Amino acid sequence: MTATISKVTTIGHWAGGKSFPGSSQRTAPVTNPATGVVTGEVALADVDDARAVIDAAAAAFPAWRDTSLAKRSQILFAFRELLNARKDEIAAIITSEHGKVLSDAAGEVSRGQEVVEFACGIPHLLKGGMTENASTNVDVASIRQPLGVVGIISPFNFPAMVPMWFFPIAIAAGNTVVLKPSEKDPSAALWIAALWKEAGLPDGVFNVLQGDKVAVDELLTNKTVKSISFVGSTPIAEYVYATGTAHGKRVQALGGAKNHAVILPDADLDLAADAMINAGFGSAGERCMAISAAVAVGPVADELVAKIKERAATLKTGDGTRNSDMGPLVTKAHRDKVASYIDAGEADGATVVVDGRNPQVDGEADGFWLGPTLLDNVTPEMSVYTDEIFGPVLSVVRVDTYDDALELINNNPYGNGTAIFTNDGGAARRFQNEVEVGMIGINVPIPVPTAYYSFGGWKASLFGDTHAHGTEGVHFFTRGKVVTTRWLDPSHGGINLGFPQNA
Ligand code: NAD
Repeated sequence: MTATISKVTTIGHWAGGKSFPGSSQRTAPVTNPATGVVTGEVALADVDDARAVIDAAAAAFPAWRDTSLAKRSQILFAFRELLNARKDEIAAIITSEHGKVLSDAAGEVSRGQEVVEFACGIPHLLKGGMTENASTNVDVASIRQPLGVVGIISPFNFPAMVPMWFFPIAIAAGNTVVLKPSEKDPSAALWIAALWKEAGLPDGVFNVLQGDKVAVDELLTNKTVKSISFVGSTPIAEYVYATGTAHGKRVQALGGAKNHAVILPDADLDLAADAMINAGFGSAGERCMAISAAVAVGPVADELVAKIKERAATLKTGDGTRNSDMGPLVTKAHRDKVASYIDAGEADGATVVVDGRNPQVDGEADGFWLGPTLLDNVTPEMSVYTDEIFGPVLSVVRVDTYDDALELINNNPYGNGTAIFTNDGGAARRFQNEVEVGMIGINVPIPVPTAYYSFGGWKASLFGDTHAHGTEGVHFFTRGKVVTTRWLDPSHGGINLGFPQNA
């Protein structure tokens, strides 16, 4: 399978309100995963390019920080209206570079839009506190102010939603943004930049820096950049957290995942089987909240596996523009790596119940196809269990009891999302209390919090202490200031070198 090159577009940066080609000669190919055709060449920034984009954001900061909340929220509302009206455009861009089906691409934009809607309420969210007469005739007020230039580094799997977890709140709070999208699907970020301009955002408030490690390292070390919001794989998240914090930055670095769903013997197995299909194979498993391990407790396994198998047979794999249920994987290399995990699972003794290695597809022969795959009798030592596969591979792990299931999850290094399927409220209550994972679903397979709650995992799924969006997001993108004031009582007691006391 060699990729043919036709009508290749050049994909550059965006700085100071316009596209910016940069001086670097390095580029990376951008491919349509459903056809295998290279459609673009994305610029890979050198250090000078990265500094030029960061400088554009720094130049815009003083005026944007002083722009009134009324004006900022008007621009956010305008952006929300444009995004809502034109989300089909960005969904088509996402499908053409990522491969996910159009409805799923539109779905990710809608979930990102919820954060824009949340950020429209920034005047309320930024309200500080005020205490009158903390000491006699002395008042104390707290305010929150923007950080300055903030960096966002995002993964390939959500080119719109993940950046939107951060930038609406960052901008609303008065910061200026440099977004470094994934080099695999870089065009959505440029579409968003143009939309901000149309919504009336001043030039330089939202900027896009295309690139790889060189661009990331400049963001992590450049003194002008005050914070980093990273989402991607665990090894890079750990590196970003360590490097960014060592350079004095505030960092939230969200990493990889291995999400389990526990199916208790009293669960509604039709509901659970539907949920395993949706959460295991949606977006071809390339979701950080995908379920990759179904933990069947006690006697449910045989019936559960039969129900998932029956449903998997109905799924249509194909080009995301052709009404398919599941699209291709993002690159050929990733497709081959995921297939190799199926080979390894089989060699290790797992039962291949549904085999996606040679799927029937509605798409071009050179697309990066892999069908839904169901493995049974997977054990915790197998690589198909230990590794984050990030593909349409669902493993069934059989355990005897609820406690075995809980132990399995709590021993896993990741802690992003998990779910339990049961009709027993007491068991669900125990699970939500005992499981060491950041986001829990009870009869809900992909428990992605709404915008006004915060998104974040535990353990190797998040480095840093602040989750994305919600009030934690507002807190991340602002810093506190406390003002102590005395107006009415100029007699302050004269000279007194003792430590000030409240009286
Ligand atoms: P990735 O870690 O390869 O890349 C993420 C970002 O880091 C990209 O912008 C990339 O250009 C940059 N990068 C890659 N290698 C780098 C390096 N050596 N030094 C500096 N920067 C580097 O991740 P991906 O493959 O794009 O995305 C998939 C991963 O993201 C999965 O592990 C998935 O679980 C994770 N993810 C997590 C969440 C979450 O909320 N926890 C959400 C979405 C995706």
